[in-house]
Amino acid sequence: MHPTRREVLSLSAAALAAAACRTDDPRAEPIEPTMSTTRMPSLFVSHGAPTLALDAAAGADFARLAAALPTPRAVLALSAHWLDAPATIGTRSTRELLYDFGGFPDELYRVRYEAPAAADLGARVEELLPGVQRDDDRPWDHGVWVPLLHMFPAADVPVLQLSLPYRWTPKQLFELGRSLAPLRDEGVLVLGSGGAVHNLRAVDWRGDAPPPQWATDYEGWLRERLLAGQADDVVAFRERAPALRQAHPTDEHFLPLLVALGAAADGGDAVTFPIEGWELGSMSRLAVRFG
Ligand code: ZN
Repeated sequence: MHPTRREVLSLSAAALAAAACRTDDPRAEPIEPTMSTTRMPSLFVSHGAPTLALDAAAGADFARLAAALPTPRAVLALSAHWLDAPATIGTRSTRELLYDFGGFPDELYRVRYEAPAAADLGARVEELLPGVQRDDDRPWDHGVWVPLLHMFPAADVPVLQLSLPYRWTPKQLFELGRSLAPLRDEGVLVLGSGGAVHNLRAVDWRGDAPPPQWATDYEGWLRERLLAGQADDVVAFRERAPALRQAHPTDEHFLPLLVALGAAADGGDAVTFPIEGWELGSMSRLAVRFG
């Protein structure tokens, strides 16, 4: 069922009341609900290396990004690290994480992120995406939990992960985003997590080299096309982007951007870059906010 406006409002009021109850002030009253009337932006983030989870300075950029957003009712996340087709929602209710990387400090494998699963959002996604599958076992991968633990460190925003159907064409992934666009009016943050420029073979693990020309060429093209509102060019990146083979030897880290872009396809959304810069030489840190 599509929630009615009244249901959305009451959800928001309940969430705000719950938030108010956590304060120490007995006079605290629920404030007027505003979440449901604020259209959520859609968002793409470059999650970089898994060590971002332990990096307070880099994490602060994600915290600032999130603090500037309206408070979401839930996050629907797509990551470069879950590529199943057909599109699948991860409906596991326990809060275990996937540590889907190797060779990093032990500390990284002890990180927890215990946000609630957004169970109610699953039914809504099934309405919007006929044929979507369920996977009751899939935990969140690091493309989801690493950015979120900085963005919402209280782990109080429910999360649902939707797989990125890698075999789909870029145009189909863009259309997938379009199908999810109504969620923006329901307080849901559509979050694509990947990398604007991502070539693990070119990574400089000392991290002190400036980005190479091919990396800045690709990212510069992307930024310019986004700011010009040329979504068609971005969707056709395999044919039109410069330095594609170097920027994305495989392009699964770029594809979540197409979903976030699709969720903004109706136009009129300001495009901004709340996180910019480079790490490990050629890895872009670019985040893109639509709306
Ligand atoms: Zn990744």
